[in-house]
Amino acid sequence: MNRIPVLIVGGGLVGLASSLFLARQGVPSLLVDRHPGVSIHGRARGINHRTMEIYRAYGIADAVEAAGKPFDAEAGVARCHTLAGEWEWIFDADEPRAWPDLTAGVFCMADQNSVEPILIEAARSSSATHRFNTELVSFDADTDGVTAVIEDRASGEREVWQADYLVAADGNRSPIRQRLGIARTGEATFMNSMNIVFRADLSAFLPRRALFWMIFNPGFAGGLVSTADPRRWQATVSYDPAVESEKDFTVERCVQLVRAAVGREDLAVEIEGVASWQQGVGVAERYRHGRIFLAGDSAHVWPPAGALGANTGVQDAHNLAWKLAAVIRGRAGDGLLDTYEAERRTLAAALAPMIVRHQQARMSGAPEPEEMDGKVQLLGQLYGADTVFADRLDLPARAGARAPHLWLDAAGVHDLFVDEFVLLCDSAEWVDAAAVQSVPVRAYRADHADGWAARYGHGAVLVRPDGYVAWRSSAPASATLLAQALSRALATPA
Ligand SMILES: Cc1cc2nc3c(=O)[nH]c(=O)nc-3n(C[C@H](O)[C@H](O)[C@H](O)COP(=O)(O)OP(=O)(O)OC[C@H]3O[C@@H](n4cnc5c(N)ncnc54)[C@H](O)[C@@H]3O)c2cc1C
Repeated sequence: MNRIPVLIVGGGLVGLASSLFLARQGVPSLLVDRHPGVSIHGRARGINHRTMEIYRAYGIADAVEAAGKPFDAEAGVARCHTLAGEWEWIFDADEPRAWPDLTAGVFCMADQNSVEPILIEAARSSSATHRFNTELVSFDADTDGVTAVIEDRASGEREVWQADYLVAADGNRSPIRQRLGIARTGEATFMNSMNIVFRADLSAFLPRRALFWMIFNPGFAGGLVSTADPRRWQATVSYDPAVESEKDFTVERCVQLVRAAVGREDLAVEIEGVASWQQGVGVAERYRHGRIFLAGDSAHVWPPAGALGANTGVQDAHNLAWKLAAVIRGRAGDGLLDTYEAERRTLAAALAPMIVRHQQARMSGAPEPEEMDGKVQLLGQLYGADTVFADRLDLPARAGARAPHLWLDAAGVHDLFVDEFVLLCDSAEWVDAAAVQSVPVRAYRADHADGWAARYGHGAVLVRPDGYVAWRSSAPASATLLAQALSRALATPA
């Protein structure tokens, strides 16, 4: 029988990010995806500051930023009757992309189909295995592991694999979640959409480039976005799945739709593909089923407002990977794996209704509700606290909050958080205490950094590999206190 510590089902952003994060923590994984390769459909594009902060630590932020260059000049959302006609700006400028007081991660626009190859290359160079055109056809799980049957869709050949853990990054329709009978709370479908990818020269109609055009006329009602290729575009319309499907969107019909959107009956259009997707909401009732963990869209879906779908999924993967690695490497107790659901599901359940309210306002043209500062929503997420979000971001380091940002020369402090616990401290004694622990702890004297005292106070702050504060002490340096804090953070006996 083939054996692997972690089997990942799904090679979208979340599965690929999981394979990279695990690989950098020294844990081999096998990822399977039923598609032959990366899709031409761009889908997720807005990569938020927190995801970019994580990508920096894993050494891929520069490549992701470069993939986003074609979108650098795009800003705002425009509404129009046809692209060739007058535009009304719904909003015209975007927030600054860098928040240097809060994070080294800089917001970036880069299509999912440009980012996926970057994740693939980085993960493979760190020993992850990916098999595309390969489907999970069945699985059984017990207390010892997961037995999975996978099929090469080209040859029809099947293999049986035994995995210690299974990450279900298998998307919104998640066959794994369905097979496990895990329901979703708050489930609703708002809209069924069809994406049409086409090639056309639209340069004559573009005095300026928007992030998104909303176009409404009798022949077309939907959205238009650019892609990294200046002649390739993506139009989105809604459809009724009770009466139509992808095959009803013939080339002729799609050409007509695109011409109506642009407002030019003679426009040369080449249709490259159509794909359906569902705009809905739902959060899985459980994220863990024994040795199986849901991540990304299989765990939660919501509308695109706020660009929090893939971002939250990648951040799920980041939260889960270090915990799986710690358990697989014998450093943590199984209880640590329960914290994945406690931390990430609680967050998703709070985000879902907010995102729905924003999307509904956006679609109806009403002003978007100002219920929360966007910076707090991204960087003020709390774990294990009474509230899901902090009131403000200028509070000093505390357990359960993301470690406050510091600049350490050109590096952000989050560049340090990859595969081990980090002790940020202000004395050589704390560095010595870290050196004698039974699990590796990288200690850094960070007291020379601007803002250290205000953000970290005096003493030592223990930070988990995902950049969250596990413990803080202003007591005199003590290897015993640190060992106790590590035991709690790793759910091992003291
Ligand atoms: C138009 C649009 C715009 C969006 N914009 C943004 C944005 O700007 N920012 C953002 O953060 N999010 C955005 N999102 C949401 C984002 O695309 C999703 O949240 C994200 O892609 C989900 O990633 P995932 O890896 O969880 O799932 P998916 O990308 O759906 O990947 C799941 C994979 O699992 C595979 N799979 C399923 N079952 C099996 C099986 N049995 N065997 C093998 N493989 C299997 C599928 O082939 C698929 O490749 C957008 C979504 C849409 C539709």
